[in-house]
Amino acid sequence: MANAIDHTHDPALRSWVESANDAATDFPIQNLPLCRYSPGDDPNLVLTGVLIGDRVFDLSGLRDARLLDDLPGISNQEQEDWVWWDFSWIVSCPAAARRALRARLSELFREDNRSLRDNPHLLNAAMRYQRDVTFAAPTAIANYTDFYASIHHASTVGAMFRPDNALLPNYKHVPIGYHGRASSIVPTGTAVKRPKGQQSPPDGEVGAGPTFGPCKLLDYELEVGCIIAGDNAIGEPTPISHAQDRIAGLCLVNDWSARDVQKWEYQPLGPFLAKNFATTVSSCVVTREALEPFRIPAYARPQGDPRPLPYLFDEADQASGGFDITLEVLLQTASMAKAGTAPMTISRSNAFRDMYWTFAQMIAHHTSNGCNLAAGDLIASGTVSGLEPASRGCLLELTWDGPGKPRKPLQLPGGETRTFLADGDTVIFRAWCERPGFRRIGFGECRGTIVGA
Ligand code: CA
Repeated sequence: MANAIDHTHDPALRSWVESANDAATDFPIQNLPLCRYSPGDDPNLVLTGVLIGDRVFDLSGLRDARLLDDLPGISNQEQEDWVWWDFSWIVSCPAAARRALRARLSELFREDNRSLRDNPHLLNAAMRYQRDVTFAAPTAIANYTDFYASIHHASTVGAMFRPDNALLPNYKHVPIGYHGRASSIVPTGTAVKRPKGQQSPPDGEVGAGPTFGPCKLLDYELEVGCIIAGDNAIGEPTPISHAQDRIAGLCLVNDWSARDVQKWEYQPLGPFLAKNFATTVSSCVVTREALEPFRIPAYARPQGDPRPLPYLFDEADQASGGFDITLEVLLQTASMAKAGTAPMTISRSNAFRDMYWTFAQMIAHHTSNGCNLAAGDLIASGTVSGLEPASRGCLLELTWDGPGKPRKPLQLPGGETRTFLADGDTVIFRAWCERPGFRRIGFGECRGTIVGA
């Protein structure tokens, strides 16, 4: 497995797409994330593209213009066989082919390369401004699994419900997860309708029964998603030593949660209708190749914590299985939007470096019983929360003030407060990686606005 930082990461690289050279862009030439989008009015026409600066380029268009010929690992015939350069196909290609595609795109967009820059006909056909397109989910996701890999999230939430026994005894041995619902995954920008559901009887009201109606405790969950590369046949686990090769790239995921529904329904089988009404994903996938400079060691488990069982332990994964990503959550209410007040940052942290389990461990565990993960499947990390209150990745934690105490609402501009989400609220996730000696790269946005039930 190549684990390489190469010329495509050179911070001195500049692009002829001038907006890609802006220090503030998420999409410099060193990033080149992949996306799916509709370029015009026809939502049924979905193209796979690469983002650079403020533009998006159609990969099929580049292929048709023969700019992607002779990529090592993909025969030209294989390319021809695909009408569209589809994201699902890219993630089913060998890792060497994805690295070659990245190297070719880096070359095409370099400031001194004229093959695309000086082809107005092709630019007109294959290039769009991001503001003019509609993003789809970055891949046609067939299967979605949600993990629970942040020990700080698990500990804080556990403390709310089980003050004496916050972390259950399996947590440090098993990457806890459940199967989510792929059909309700929506792309960034899609409105999210407040779900209705059955809610628990009010605490302390003797004899009261459950009710059915609009969710009263609507929350977001800040998560990092991993798009799976390649396939393993059913019955054939992916060993931990090969699990990193199955990471095609990362995206942002908002696992919207109806807390009142969740509280009542989750025992004994886990989340169901509290989660599957909508899950929002960001516009693009930042490839694993782009993330190479931002790999870090796995979370260092405190002394005394159990060593993972052998099928979950790999020295190489311990050395570089983490990712250094800054994650940010912003909130804008309807009145803030009306008054022209910018979204307010309500949390920001590097807590993703403290995930108790790496994506490779989650993949090895997921397939350890023979379950087949398919190219393009989505696995999400679980809510990313840090030790500090300001780094908590959901309102359930962010407005919690300790056992037995009333919730402490967020104070927003204009005097508004929030304990959970109100109709008209917009939640925006952003994320980026930065490290001295490398170009900052970003993940774009994962955005959703709540509309009334
Ligand atoms: Ca979740």
